[in-house]
Amino acid sequence: MSNWTIPLSDLDYGPEEEAAVLRVLRSRWLSMGPEVQAFEREFAEMTGVRHAFAVANGTAALFLAYAALGIQPGDEIIQPALNFVAAANMTVAVGAKPIFADICSLDEPSLDPASVERLINPRTRAVVVMHYGGYFCRMDEFQALCRSRGLALIEDACHAVGGRYASASPASALNGRAAGVLSDVACFSFFANKNLPVGEGGMVTTDRDDLAEILRSLRSHGMTTLTWDRHKGHAYSYDVTLHGYNYRLDELRAALGREQLKKLESGNARRKALVTQYRQGLANVARLQVPFKDGGRGSAYHLMPVLAADAAHRKELVSALGQARIQSSLHYPDIPRFTIFQKDGVQAMPISRSFSERVITLPLFPHLQEEQVAQVVATLASV
Ligand SMILES: *Cc1c(COP(=O)(O)O)cnc(C)c1O
Repeated sequence: MSNWTIPLSDLDYGPEEEAAVLRVLRSRWLSMGPEVQAFEREFAEMTGVRHAFAVANGTAALFLAYAALGIQPGDEIIQPALNFVAAANMTVAVGAKPIFADICSLDEPSLDPASVERLINPRTRAVVVMHYGGYFCRMDEFQALCRSRGLALIEDACHAVGGRYASASPASALNGRAAGVLSDVACFSFFANKNLPVGEGGMVTTDRDDLAEILRSLRSHGMTTLTWDRHKGHAYSYDVTLHGYNYRLDELRAALGREQLKKLESGNARRKALVTQYRQGLANVARLQVPFKDGGRGSAYHLMPVLAADAAHRKELVSALGQARIQSSLHYPDIPRFTIFQKDGVQAMPISRSFSERVITLPLFPHLQEEQVAQVVATLASV
């Protein structure tokens, strides 16, 4: 247990999750069985996507997405400089090169289509967008750009589970569609602090049947049948048709995921209400800026980011929060600043760098109380 009076995030777990784990323990089947199948089906239904594959974590989902698209040494993947490092690390893992593009602005810290377009060259194979904090990227523009340049489009949707897109254009065919169907392949994480937490877990989704077949196979050693099929007597032996991996999810976590999926919509709605309260409270706090002023293009409200005036101001704010035992965080240090990427001579992207020096992430989770939001706001206002 932490000594925070208000933690950054907290699980919404209850008797339903305990019962789900017991159900699996008593079934005496621990991996890739009926719970995983049901979780995939229910997740696909919620998302409105043809195929969903449960995987070990969000990083594995990204690796499988790149591998299924056939990304290879010599290829480049354009992606945000402001992201968790997994999308970039997995680019290197498939032997390709991450090329970092900038965010639109301090108010809209999601990948800028114009910055991406400038970096496209004959080695470019794919673009990764990341729906920062749950707020959607400009998906109409990214779909048009990737289609016209023959590039694959990948959503790092780890922040956006359950979110619905709301384009700037009311006529967009994408309006109301969920994260996970706005690209060729989308990747989700169910890490402990995400909107749908199971501990370690993830999902990779696609509408493309060709990619689905490869994803299914690569997740489980490139084998043509699963242990469950053999247990059920549907198969006796198997063939191996690809050099695959083991990125499977187990039954316990799938059962937790099914319970959390039932709570997702109400949890995200509650997050939205709390974000509205934060926005109203913070509007009068001098020198603080709240990104996505106009509400963005739809959101799953994963994070509550605010911007200090500069790095020194951030230090004061973080210290005041710490003294009040309010946990805060930083999403994210921009990737080009990391030692291993500097070794490759990667250039900083100016808006991403500035954002990463000023951002503070405030507590946000479904059962956070109005009084607690008021306390966070008052603490920031006292600086
Ligand atoms: C959490 C996260 C990941 C990695 O997911 P894991 O399940 O921790 O491997 C990747 N990208 C983003 C944007 C994330 O938030």
